Amino acid sequence: MKIFAPEIIKKKRGGCALTAEEIRGLVAGYVDGSIPDYQMSALLMAIFFQGMNGAETAALTEAMLRSGEVLDFSSLGKIAVDKHSTGGVGDKTSLIIAPIVAAAGVPVPMISGRGLGHTGGTLDKLESIPGFRVDIGLEGLRQQMGTLGFAMVGQSAEICPADKKMYALRDVTATVESIPLICASIMSKKLAEGIGGLVLDVKYGSGAFMKTLETAEDLADKLMEIGHRHGKKVVALLTRMDQPLGHFVGNALEVGECIAIMKGESFLGRNTFADCRELSLQLAGEMIWLGGASVDPQSGIAMARKILESGQAWTQFERMCEAQGGRILALPQAENRIDIVSDREGYVSAFDTEGVGLAALIIGAGRAKSSDTIDPTAGVEVHVKLGDRISKGDRIYTLYAGAPSGVSRFKEAEVRLLSATTISLQKPDVPALMTKRKVA
Ligand code: URA
Repeated sequence: MKIFAPEIIKKKRGGCALTAEEIRGLVAGYVDGSIPDYQMSALLMAIFFQGMNGAETAALTEAMLRSGEVLDFSSLGKIAVDKHSTGGVGDKTSLIIAPIVAAAGVPVPMISGRGLGHTGGTLDKLESIPGFRVDIGLEGLRQQMGTLGFAMVGQSAEICPADKKMYALRDVTATVESIPLICASIMSKKLAEGIGGLVLDVKYGSGAFMKTLETAEDLADKLMEIGHRHGKKVVALLTRMDQPLGHFVGNALEVGECIAIMKGESFLGRNTFADCRELSLQLAGEMIWLGGASVDPQSGIAMARKILESGQAWTQFERMCEAQGGRILALPQAENRIDIVSDREGYVSAFDTEGVGLAALIIGAGRAKSSDTIDPTAGVEVHVKLGDRISKGDRIYTLYAGAPSGVSRFKEAEVRLLSATTISLQKPDVPALMTKRKVA
């Protein structure tokens, strides 16, 4: 069908539902270049304000999924699984989870995205490893699944090209926080992977796209429904993102933190990473269960812990880096750093976590527009956690950057970080990281 984009944009702008044919036409046109960025941006903004009903969201997911190939790993004779996070600050669990689950014998064909808004992206983290290729092509992916049982790659011209283009456009047009757009983006990528099971880490709080438990639960339900309709087993964990996960935000810094967790070593003098480690084990355990390698999630988690503690996850990660061209031992380090200290004593009682993500972005760890280049070494070390007692002069953050453009913005980042951190005399209640578990 020949589509006339301005009419369809106007229809959505006016709050009317689009037909599956209109959605298919727009997505196909955007991928083949006949719909330009400015029309797709206008449509995304109209969707952002007007939303989409269930049928439209399903049609958008389907159109994005069919923009590329749908993989099939049934020849491996096992159930392939994956996990996806709805996005956060310091959220690096994929790098730990994929090798753990692969070591348990469950295939993981992980297709991830880049940083989006204030949140980091797995692909940007992996690319901070010199030489690491996130685009190994379909044949490369199939081969690596056969040899290693897991791979961590990006959307490509072959796999979900519509999401690759739309994701980058949403990032720079303030159209990220929309439930139908998030659902279609996540589920099109995941359904293209040929998986049988999916674990969702649905985040809520000051550093997530969903700020409240209610909206996160709504997102979780919609994601699960799409998965279920496509015959997938889905588990969703609702987890808090009201402080950065772990202690580092920024690409090579986060890879360094993951290596420390996998090797049981310290990183930049720090040797406890409890929240990130435990969440990774929970998510990995659920995946092991969905993949049929454990009788229940609890034994999956126990298996994940054993694999991590025995060093097998690290061995798998090293193998994957080697297979995808990455020189893990050459991980770059920032040449410049400054400490930010507290001017008062008290308890760390709240973070504007999005502000922490934005501070990392402005010193080079993320993009403000799609053509921006990332400084792989840039980022923020978060020395404190909610509920910690601190004294005047204690370090709260350390900023890292290699590029002069990042260093020149240290002051601006410092101002943002200090206003993103609440220190109070009252010790706050710190609720558990994981709030709810849902299964479909
Ligand atoms: N992760 C994705 O892959 N897409 C989104 O839109 C948000 C988080």
